[in-house]
Amino acid sequence: MKLLVQLIIGILLLFPSVELSAWGQNGHRIVAEICNQYLSEDVKAELREIMGPDYLAELANWPDYIKSEKGWKFADSWHYTTVHDDQTVQDVRDKYSQNDKIDDATEAIELMINILSGDEEASVWLKDMMNDHDAKPLRGSTKATALAFLVHLVGDIHQPMHVGKNKDRGGNNINVLFFSERTNIHSVWDTKIIEHEKLSYTEFAIFINKCTAEEARSMQRSTLNQWAQESITLREDIYRTIYDYVDRETGLPSLSWQYQHDYIVHVKERLLKAGVRLAGVLEDIYL
Ligand SMILES: [Zn+2]
Repeated sequence: MKLLVQLIIGILLLFPSVELSAWGQNGHRIVAEICNQYLSEDVKAELREIMGPDYLAELANWPDYIKSEKGWKFADSWHYTTVHDDQTVQDVRDKYSQNDKIDDATEAIELMINILSGDEEASVWLKDMMNDHDAKPLRGSTKATALAFLVHLVGDIHQPMHVGKNKDRGGNNINVLFFSERTNIHSVWDTKIIEHEKLSYTEFAIFINKCTAEEARSMQRSTLNQWAQESITLREDIYRTIYDYVDRETGLPSLSWQYQHDYIVHVKERLLKAGVRLAGVLEDIYL
């Protein structure tokens, strides 16, 4: 019996706890901060009506915080989508549109856009869900709840491991070393690469946000399907290259300076695009 317990503890130590999260806290704040830099004063005023004295960057992580509230469990699947190798993003959306639920990030993003645009039916749907599940809305408001989810989920869908293949839970089951620390590839993409830069979210946003107005407009001329498709293209690159970094001793991919160098540029690009596009969506809703 003692041996069994030791064995179980050993296995648990070998495979660190796995959890589907999202861009880490700073990732979502960076997206919100970049978005803020592209919003017109009129739209900022509209948002202040909804979120009061809070900053967009403060709202950005609320959908992750409420994952630990029982009532909000129904929203867990909104943080990602699953597109298998033989599917397109549209295949997945067609499948999900056949039921009344909100199944994934693409449907949840659409729902939030509809609510913020004043669609009464969408608003009632979310209100009923919250009532039925005893899930508390942010600031007691359906619109504030929708805004926080929109800010968060536009970030999530730009995180390549949040458009997963399902078989390994978005890379949560792929163990790697990151600068010698045992973790998994999902977590590397959620937080580790960003944290390694040791920047605050505002510094990060300043360093990333160097595109011209024309480049920003071109990023905004894109569809939700394209955002997810870009994540899939990057996801495939991540899967293809991960075993180029294997450590002979442990047999695990050992990601450190070279990986950080190779991929930080992609992380920055995804955060920038998410922020710029989020601003485009909000401008479209309010202007
Ligand atoms: Zn999330």
